[in-house]
Amino acid sequence: MLCPKCGDSHVRPSKRLAPADIVHRFKSEEAYRCRECHARFFGPVDPRTTWIARFQRQFATHRERERLKLKLRSKLTPVILFGIGLAVFAVFLRYLSSFS
Ligand SMILES: [Zn+2]
Repeated sequence: MLCPKCGDSHVRPSKRLAPADIVHRFKSEEAYRCRECHARFFGPVDPRTTWIARFQRQFATHRERERLKLKLRSKLTPVILFGIGLAVFAVFLRYLSSFS
């Protein structure tokens, strides 16, 4: 996509602000902002910015987060078990030394 004002290709989807944007949305047009000259214009909807694409991205990151959480838990479990074992051993040593 090229900016109609300066012809640069550094454009990004603009955040919807105006009620007129909704009308354009019905015409499958989306507001864009030029990163070079900051001109705001309308162009065809970028498939990457549709709600379904956003939802899929969101879901993917959520799934990634869950996977990281599981990974962390599986790494933390042996450490916690070792700590509990050490504590039990310390109590046992104290119990043994109480006889002498
Ligand atoms: Zn421009």
